[in-house]
Amino acid sequence: MASNPVMALRVAPGSNVKLHRFDTDDTLGWHKESAKRELEKVKLRLDVLQQRLFAEERRSVLLVLQAMDAAGKDGTIRSILSGLNPAGVTVSSFGVPGGPEVEHDYLWRVHAQAPAKGHIGVFNRSHYEDVLVVRVKGFQPKAVWSKRYDHIRSFEQMLSDEGTTVLKCFLNVSPDVQRKRLQERIDDPEKRWKFRQGDLEDRALWPQYVAAFEDALSRTSTASAPWYVVPADRNWVRNLAVAKILLHHLERMKPRLPDPEDGLDGLIVE
Ligand code: ADP
Repeated sequence: MASNPVMALRVAPGSNVKLHRFDTDDTLGWHKESAKRELEKVKLRLDVLQQRLFAEERRSVLLVLQAMDAAGKDGTIRSILSGLNPAGVTVSSFGVPGGPEVEHDYLWRVHAQAPAKGHIGVFNRSHYEDVLVVRVKGFQPKAVWSKRYDHIRSFEQMLSDEGTTVLKCFLNVSPDVQRKRLQERIDDPEKRWKFRQGDLEDRALWPQYVAAFEDALSRTSTASAPWYVVPADRNWVRNLAVAKILLHHLERMKPRLPDPEDGLDGLIVE
């Protein structure tokens, strides 16, 4: 698949990911203006395939987005899903667990948001928080979070076996670009609402997050639920890459429109 550079972003199962080897500023050989036009074409194709998936009503897609703060999860979602039929897309965001969520196992709230047949589900953060922030901030002891990689692999395998195509994108931003974007959030009144003091605490824990992401990517990228490491310093590269990854998986699924009823050829509506 040499013609599709996004396939090189895929984390091969069993590999030992070292994030410093990935270029956050990579353009993947693309140029900004043509990439924007290309994104529009990809979105038209996504629209056609989404309609078929929706009409077929047998399978679903789950796109998981994880990243450091300000890598652009929200921007990616807005950019690539804006052309699709909202009736067939569900976006679920996972914040600090509360209420009944804390009274159940960590996958309970996640499974409840898994996409219905015919739908594309997008997770803005996910069950991976339970091996990322939970590990880095010590919300659970290692004896608890270290078992979760196995659970997550099995959970995603089950979703896949039951008809959900699972794909996961890590939006890989550099500390320097994150610094600029966080500063922008503080300085721009339109963006200030996005800023939390906690973002700075997380930023100070960058090396610990890198280690946690490296383990998560290495241990949970499987043939049926692969991870992709997406360069995220440039928004336009990030958006096109995620759109193309989603398109790749939808093309492979070959969703089919249901057979029409017999006897429609030549039927005239009076
Ligand atoms: P975002 O940063 O994704 O735009 P928020 O500002 O609402 O959204 O942040 C969500 C917060 O919830 C993040 O700090 C994230 O680490 C935290 N979070 C998500 N899942 C969990 C979890 N299982 N345990 C603890 N914290 C979590």
